[in-house]
Amino acid sequence: MEFKAGTATVQLIKGDLTDQEVDAIVNAANSTLLGGGGVDGAIHSKGGSKILEECKQLRAKEWPDGLPTGNAVITTGGSLRAKHVIHVVGPIWRGGLYEESKLLRRAYWNSLKLAVANGLKTVAFPSISTGAYGYPTAEASKVAVGAVRDFLVKEDSLEMVRFVLFSEKDLEIYQKAAQDLF
Ligand code: ADP
Repeated sequence: MEFKAGTATVQLIKGDLTDQEVDAIVNAANSTLLGGGGVDGAIHSKGGSKILEECKQLRAKEWPDGLPTGNAVITTGGSLRAKHVIHVVGPIWRGGLYEESKLLRRAYWNSLKLAVANGLKTVAFPSISTGAYGYPTAEASKVAVGAVRDFLVKEDSLEMVRFVLFSEKDLEIYQKAAQDLF
């Protein structure tokens, strides 16, 4: 499924984020930046040690206390097909009363801002926060698709943003959100 937002295209596919041939894939990281499970683990195991080395440098030099929720940093893509990895920390779901939607929107927004600042044109996202962080996928999909649409309408240097969903069910949920928003 594909939509237009501003001059850019938004794609929704079922697939593996670590296989995407784009300027940057976005990692649903945790604040340590030192790896974890889920998509984070897959990126580090497939992308090789160079990514982790850069993450350690970023921790030491810029974020000694860890990367705050909603913030993003960029590293090489290591041995991945993607040229770069943008690491962002999504919110942990705590019932919805702790600004989770604002923080999730900020995570998408700041990832795209960092992509633009680095002259990137194509970016692929996973479903941030809906795995270990427990954010309900239906709620998260509306925030995710809405944030990307709003960003692309404002900023025309990106060419393509792709949501890479890991299951058919998640893809259907994101497609529904996109149909409602576009
Ligand atoms: P978080 O901690 O932000 O919740 P997770 O990695 O636990 O992050 O999960 C986020 C989403 O990424 C989940 O929907 C999970 O199924 C999905 N996911 C896990 N591995 C991959 C992958 N290789 N490609 C795309 N999505 C993935």
